[in-house]
Amino acid sequence: MSTLIAAPLDMTVRDGFDAEACMNCGFCSATCPLGVPILPRRLFRYVLFGMDDAVRAETETIFSCLLCRSCEQSCPAGVHITENVRLLRGWLLREGR
Ligand code: SF4
Ligand code: SF4
Repeated sequence: MSTLIAAPLDMTVRDGFDAEACMNCGFCSATCPLGVPILPRRLFRYVLFGMDDAVRAETETIFSCLLCRSCEQSCPAGVHITENVRLLRGWLLREGR
């Protein structure tokens, strides 16, 4: 559970967010059928560093994720990638995006 996020991301997003274990290795992006380079490495760092506007700018990417879990299966750190994406979608929806 993240406690590092300082900016105005909603607490309900922070409460379940699991990305601190990410080692930025890129295995997840290599196995993503969409070839989405921003998911999850850079995107999760945006959240951890409280870069809300950068997260908002990736709304389309966040909603394009198939939630297929291919990335999770290749993640050596066991990051709950799809759950993080679901939490971000909830946050964006609550913002009316
Ligand atoms: S869950 Fe999303 S980010 Fe992960 S491999 Fe599938 S489409 Fe890509
Ligand atoms: S595979 Fe896991 S540890 Fe590696 S960049 Fe992706 S989320 Fe982070």
